[in-house]
Amino acid sequence: MASSRTVPDRIGYFGPFGGQFVPETVMAALAQLDDAYRRARRDARFQAELRQLLQSYAGRPTPLYFATRLSQALGRGVRIYLKREDLLHTGAHKINNALGQALLAVRMKKRRLIAETGAGQHGVATATVAALFGLECEVFMGQEDMRRQALNVFRMRLLGARVVPVTSGTKTLKDACSEAIRNWVTTVRTTHYCIGSVVGPHPYPLLVRDFQSVIGREARRQLLAREGRLPDALVACVGGGSNAIGLFHPFRNDRRVQCIGVEAGGTSLAPGHHAATLLKGRPGVLHGAYSQLLQDREGQILSTASISAGLDYPGVGPEHAYYQLTRRARYAAVSDAQALRGVQLLTRTEGILPALEPAHAVAYLERLVPRLRRRAVVILGLSGRGDKDVQTIADRLNGTAAHRV
Ligand SMILES: *Cc1c(COP(=O)(O)O)cnc(C)c1O
Repeated sequence: MASSRTVPDRIGYFGPFGGQFVPETVMAALAQLDDAYRRARRDARFQAELRQLLQSYAGRPTPLYFATRLSQALGRGVRIYLKREDLLHTGAHKINNALGQALLAVRMKKRRLIAETGAGQHGVATATVAALFGLECEVFMGQEDMRRQALNVFRMRLLGARVVPVTSGTKTLKDACSEAIRNWVTTVRTTHYCIGSVVGPHPYPLLVRDFQSVIGREARRQLLAREGRLPDALVACVGGGSNAIGLFHPFRNDRRVQCIGVEAGGTSLAPGHHAATLLKGRPGVLHGAYSQLLQDREGQILSTASISAGLDYPGVGPEHAYYQLTRRARYAAVSDAQALRGVQLLTRTEGILPALEPAHAVAYLERLVPRLRRRAVVILGLSGRGDKDVQTIADRLNGTAAHRV
């Protein structure tokens, strides 16, 4: 029953994972954030304000949609429900967390937000809430990602944010994280660092999980109303792990509900060709926390590869490492090619174009459904919409036999 214990503990540990591995200058800011969040968590006014913003600004509750034709295509009488985070303002679940953290920043009287971003989705969400609250905003983004996601760079600038190119390392998300931490060290008095997933030092994995748990709370209530029972399985993609934890967490004590996280299998599971951290990683410290990570024998971080920028990260949230250790969840990898088939499957059966990230979870259903009992019920976390990925999808499909797009 280890996993039904309340985690994290007071200093941010999920079993052996988590903690705070940061420079001394940042410790005080983490303590201040921890303190502000503990009070906000119990404060009915904070919770009401957040609930109101989620409803009237972001578009919650999102529908729990029964996917009839997708279910038929997968067979065995299995019923697939989609939790439609793709319908939120800015197009993905990231706004849930960005709104929560912006409210916290205002409480702490910090007038400036900084953020790291890979695909640009978290940068756009942060720039959006900064505009909403009249805060200054600076987003760190790898130069390589800025090139690949030029449209999101422009969106952030339209929203009034400054986008700072990061030219170190592989010029991608992990380097942007390092740069954001470096910037925070020198600006902590005026600045809140808005982290985009359940990663980083305590209390981030806790507070991002709490802000995203609205996904699972709604889905649980909606499914009980519709089916009169709990699901057999939950399936969600895992980059840092925030949309997946947000779906899983409210079901953590429902021991019969299987939780399955789907990682980016890239082009192969050889080192450097994927981002399947829980499948292929080993424990170590990255960006302020002890968790699983992709590293070589000398502890150097391995490069990663994925068709979806949002899953392309060599680390993972400590709570997922803990769920894996305690077997409360299991994790699988889906390749780039399979994810593209997932895009086509959902688009053609339901008229819903998913982002490449949740397309990994869609593709995994083809592996899962044959192993479920007949008429099982599954909730799939549809974390975002695919508009941002149309060019990538077109480029990949036009080069293959599957280009009936
Ligand atoms: C950022 C992103 C992800 C990956 O982040 P998690 O923290 O693992 O949820 C997944 N889906 C979409 C649509 C994203 O934008």
